[in-house]
Formats: sequence, C-alpha cells, structure tokens
Amino acid sequence: MTIKKLYIDEAVADYPLSLEIKRRLPIPAETVASPETLFSSLSGLSDPVSAGKEMLFVTQNKGAFVRPCPGTRYYTCCGYMILHIGTFCLMDCSYCILQSYFHPPLLQYYVNQDEMMTALDGVFSQSRIRRIGTGEFTDSLIWEPIDQISARLIRKFAAQSQALLELKTKTVNIDHLLSLPHNRKTVMAWSLNTEAVIRSQECGAASLDARLDAALRCQAHNYPLAFHFDPLIIYPGCVEAYIEVIDRLFDRIHSDNIVWISLGSFRFMPDLKSIIEHRFPDSKIIYGEFIQGLDGKMRYFKPLRRALYKKIVDHIRYRAPKVCVYFCMEDDEVWKHALGYLPSEYGGLPDILDRAAIRHCGLSH
Ligand code: SF4
Repeated sequence: MTIKKLYIDEAVADYPLSLEIKRRLPIPAETVASPETLFSSLSGLSDPVSAGKEMLFVTQNKGAFVRPCPGTRYYTCCGYMILHIGTFCLMDCSYCILQSYFHPPLLQYYVNQDEMMTALDGVFSQSRIRRIGTGEFTDSLIWEPIDQISARLIRKFAAQSQALLELKTKTVNIDHLLSLPHNRKTVMAWSLNTEAVIRSQECGAASLDARLDAALRCQAHNYPLAFHFDPLIIYPGCVEAYIEVIDRLFDRIHSDNIVWISLGSFRFMPDLKSIIEHRFPDSKIIYGEFIQGLDGKMRYFKPLRRALYKKIVDHIRYRAPKVCVYFCMEDDEVWKHALGYLPSEYGGLPDILDRAAIRHCGLSH
C-alpha cells in the first residue's frame, strides 16, 4: 500500500513536523478545517479500509498519549501500556483487528509530540516499572520513512530506568536504529507466523527470513528482543509449520537475549468477519471452529487452542527452557494446561513480565 493523498489538520498545519512530513511526501496535500468532513467522506465507500490506507491524516492526539492496553476482566491481561503515536497501518493483514476497530479506519499521525514527551516524563517519574509499546494501534516502524519517531523514543527511554519501550513490527525498518545509544531500554519485537500464513494473509509484510535477519542485526547491536506468535492460525499442517518457525528462530537468535515470547490464537469481534469476507475473499481463516468468548470475541474452540498451545510451548521449552513465555488474553485453564502453572502462583502476569524486564533491560524503581 502507498499513501496517495495527505490531509493536514488546520490546527497543526504550521507545526514544524507537519511541514516536514509534507516536504517528505511528494503527493497531493490538502488542509482540513473540519476532520469530521474527512471522516464522513470515507463512510460511504464500499471498501473504506483500503481507502483509509491510502490517505494520511496528520493531526493531534487530543486524548491520552499513554494509556492502558484494553484487556478484559475475563482473561489474563499483562498490564501493558500503549503509547499512542498514530493509528492504522500500511500493510494489509487479513486478520487485522484494526480494520473494524477504528471508525473510520484511517492512517492518522499525531504531531503534537511535545505533549507525548511530557506524558512520558510523567510516567518516568512514577516509582513503578512500566512496559510501554507503540505497536498496538499501528505497526511501530511503518512511520520511520516520514518521521524517525522511534529513534527519538529510543533516546528518550535510554535516559531513564523505570520503563521499557517495545517496538513491535512486521517490517525491517531498522537500519537507522542500529547504532543508537539504546541502553537496552528498548525491546525490538517481531510478530512471527508460518510461511504459509505470511504469504497468504500478511500482505505487504516482510518475509519470515527478513524479520529474523533484522532481529539478528538488532541482537548484534545489543538490543533485547521479543517475539509474538500472534495470531496463531489453525490449518492442516500448522503444528509442524509453527515448530519449523520456532526452530528457525532459535537457530539464529540467542534465547538468553529474548525478553519474552507471547502466544495468542486468532480472535476477532464478530463484525470483522464480514470485512474479511469482503476484502479477502480467498482467505479461509474465518471458517475454523470458533466459539464466542466472554468478551464477545470469537475464538477457536478451547480444546483446539489448548492442543496447539501445548505443542508450541513444549517445543519452545525444548529449544529454550528458560525463555519467558506468556499468553495474550487466555484463561487459567489454558495457562495450566500448556505452561503447567497459573500466573497467580508467581505474583500475576504483570509481575512476571516486570521481572523479565528487570532481568533483561536493567529496569529498577
Ligand atoms: S502489520 Fe499489524 S497493524 Fe499492520 S495490518 Fe498487519 S496486523 Fe494490522
């Protein structure tokens, strides 16, 4: 996907960063007095998601820059914080929940970054460990060609020891980050999946080899790493395929430099189904055995999830017995079956991950 038109919110039109983005993107640009008019122009389209990936709205974040990740009380949540730098994505994964999360789905980038830095100063002044990521409402590194925000954030986090920054991506936009003085306060993280899923469902994302090569280069520059097997997709032969991915990961990456590995199976709000049917008619991922969970999301029937998790966890432990593995939004039964313990036995999932952050990134409070 490429951005074809730039819209700039009149309220930020004279910000230096807005002008810089306009200079860097040699495409038609328009100043917008009323964002609502822009939003409503998308709502009548037959595929507003594709349209929203081809236009960039440069604006300001009027809400909180740092906010808790929206977990639910029904599943074990990890206590993560989101740094809200922008929304949506240039890649186009069939399963992407952002397609139905934003109304309208639209690339938006926030240029009131002075306020963001002030919000981070507030977080750093609290006497508690924080794990903060930019890759929940967008991919962390898609913005680098227009604004090297990650480089600024890496430097900012390097100067304190209360919080780590996780940059989660499916790109390989890392070259300009390698030589930065990161002080191991930034974790470089990649979402991983099988070759078949990457090829058929992750349009525009880097190949598995390219992601692992990028991780290897970050490791060579002493960055701590993380990996997210999310979403795990069930299909014939998937267990062998995920085991192959795990082998390729540990054949290249030192397990003792991995802060954590998360596992999460494909889950979606019911309204995403019709979007996937419409936008990805060849995709089969919505035709599995799903059941609606307590949070309203469709998930694979639990025995299927448990069986897949167990095989994946067993193989990760075979290759890397000490690496921290956790589940994103799963219940106690799944934890006990696949990992053999409950988070509550070790102080809860947030504490488990905080300890991993202290161990790998030298955090303290
Ligand atoms: S890379 Fe992530 S944010 Fe981008 S389309 Fe894929 S799932 Fe969505």
